Amino acid sequence: MGLFVLVGRRTWPPLKSELNMRCYDCLQEARSDTTGIGVCSRCGLATCENHARVRQVQVTRQLGMGAAYGRIPARRVVCHTCDMAETAH
Ligand SMILES: [Zn+2]
Ligand SMILES: [Zn+2]
Repeated sequence: MGLFVLVGRRTWPPLKSELNMRCYDCLQEARSDTTGIGVCSRCGLATCENHARVRQVQVTRQLGMGAAYGRIPARRVVCHTCDMAETAH
Protein backbone atom coordinates (compact mmCIF):
# COMPACT_ATOMS: atom_id res chain seq x y z
CA MET A 1 0.00 0.00 0.00
CA GLY A 2 3.03 2.23 0.21
CA LEU A 3 2.31 2.95 3.81
CA PHE A 4 5.41 3.36 5.89
CA VAL A 5 5.28 3.78 9.62
CA LEU A 6 8.19 5.58 11.18
CA VAL A 7 8.87 3.71 14.37
CA GLY A 8 10.76 5.50 17.09
CA ARG A 9 10.36 8.88 15.44
CA ARG A 10 9.88 10.50 18.83
CA THR A 11 13.41 9.77 19.96
CA TRP A 12 15.43 9.27 16.77
CA PRO A 13 16.45 11.26 14.83
CA PRO A 14 16.77 13.96 17.46
CA LEU A 15 14.72 17.10 17.22
CA LYS A 16 16.34 20.09 15.59
CA SER A 17 16.40 21.96 18.87
CA GLU A 18 18.50 19.18 20.36
CA LEU A 19 21.04 19.56 17.58
CA ASN A 20 21.76 23.09 18.74
CA MET A 21 23.45 21.62 21.76
CA ARG A 22 27.13 22.14 22.26
CA CYS A 23 29.51 19.29 21.77
CA TYR A 24 30.23 17.75 25.15
CA ASP A 25 33.85 16.97 24.33
CA CYS A 26 34.39 20.56 23.25
CA LEU A 27 32.87 21.77 26.49
CA GLN A 28 35.36 19.58 28.35
CA GLU A 29 38.14 21.29 26.39
CA ALA A 30 36.61 24.72 27.05
CA ARG A 31 35.94 25.27 23.37
CA SER A 32 32.72 26.96 22.42
CA ASP A 33 33.17 27.67 18.72
CA THR A 34 31.79 24.36 17.51
CA THR A 35 28.25 23.28 16.94
CA GLY A 36 26.93 19.84 17.59
CA ILE A 37 26.22 17.91 14.41
CA GLY A 38 24.65 14.92 16.03
CA VAL A 39 23.96 12.93 19.11
CA CYS A 40 26.05 9.96 20.14
CA SER A 41 23.99 6.81 19.78
CA ARG A 42 25.68 5.31 22.83
CA CYS A 43 25.85 7.98 25.52
CA GLY A 44 23.30 10.41 24.06
CA LEU A 45 25.54 13.46 24.39
CA ALA A 46 25.86 16.00 21.60
CA THR A 47 28.98 15.77 19.52
CA CYS A 48 30.55 17.98 16.87
CA GLU A 49 32.13 17.35 13.50
CA ASN A 50 35.57 17.01 15.06
CA HIS A 51 34.56 14.65 17.83
CA ALA A 52 31.93 12.55 16.08
CA ARG A 53 32.80 9.23 14.52
CA VAL A 54 30.37 8.11 11.87
CA ARG A 55 30.36 4.37 11.45
CA GLN A 56 28.75 2.23 8.83
CA VAL A 57 26.71 -0.55 10.29
CA GLN A 58 25.06 -3.52 8.65
CA VAL A 59 21.34 -3.74 9.04
CA THR A 60 19.85 -7.17 9.47
CA ARG A 61 16.47 -7.96 8.04
CA GLN A 62 14.26 -10.84 8.87
CA LEU A 63 13.99 -13.18 5.90
CA GLY A 64 11.80 -16.17 6.58
CA MET A 65 13.50 -18.13 9.35
CA GLY A 66 16.83 -16.40 9.00
CA ALA A 67 18.29 -12.94 8.86
CA ALA A 68 19.93 -11.28 5.90
CA TYR A 69 22.15 -8.28 5.69
CA GLY A 70 20.85 -5.33 3.77
CA ARG A 71 22.89 -4.28 0.77
CA ILE A 72 23.13 -0.68 1.88
CA PRO A 73 24.88 -0.02 5.18
CA ALA A 74 23.20 2.18 7.73
CA ARG A 75 24.92 4.86 9.72
CA ARG A 76 25.62 5.36 13.37
CA VAL A 77 27.15 8.32 15.14
CA VAL A 78 29.25 7.83 18.22
CA CYS A 79 31.24 10.46 20.06
CA HIS A 80 35.01 10.45 20.37
CA THR A 81 34.84 9.10 23.93
CA CYS A 82 32.50 6.23 23.17
CA ASP A 83 34.48 5.38 20.05
CA MET A 84 37.64 5.06 22.14
CA ALA A 85 35.78 3.02 24.75
CA GLU A 86 34.53 0.64 22.07
CA THR A 87 37.83 0.21 20.27
CA ALA A 88 40.30 0.26 23.16
CA HIS A 89 41.83 -3.06 24.12
ZN1 LIG B 1 33.66 18.67 19.74
ZN1 LIG C 1 29.19 8.92 23.37
